[in-house]
Amino acid sequence: MSHGTNKCYVAGCRKDECREAHRAYGQEQREQRRAECVWINGRPFHPRAKHGTENGYSHYGCGCRECTDAYSAAQRRRKQARYARVAGIKEVA
Ligand SMILES: [Zn+2]
Ligand SMILES: [Zn+2]
Repeated sequence: MSHGTNKCYVAGCRKDECREAHRAYGQEQREQRRAECVWINGRPFHPRAKHGTENGYSHYGCGCRECTDAYSAAQRRRKQARYARVAGIKEVA
């Protein structure tokens, strides 16, 4: 199998060129999905996104209220987790 393809990455290869191919592939997918968005009330809305998920926002480019909220909540959680790690605070789930 030749390296530098997303296929190779998906097959489990983690060579730099395959990681890069995978990253580029994801980017392309996102751009494609973003192009499918329609504008509703001044916000991009993706007709096929799973709304209210971070995924809807970051992978589909959906900017509806639910997706934006889910995304900022996830961002907040990541920030808190990072802070907790740096400050040595144990997370109480
Ligand atoms: Zn490879
Ligand atoms: Zn949405």
